[in-house]
Amino acid sequence: MSKSNTCFHCGTSSDDRVLLKCEEKGQEKYVCVRCLPILIHGKH
Ligand SMILES: [Zn+2]
Repeated sequence: MSKSNTCFHCGTSSDDRVLLKCEEKGQEKYVCVRCLPILIHGKH
């Protein structure tokens, strides 16, 4: 019984794409590898 996490940015689950654990303002989150570059470059 594994519960898959989801990307906080796009909602993709770890079943579909690799997720990375991260932290924002003390809150643990997961972000997928596709959204990570967006976060690195910042929002427009
Ligand atoms: Zn994502």
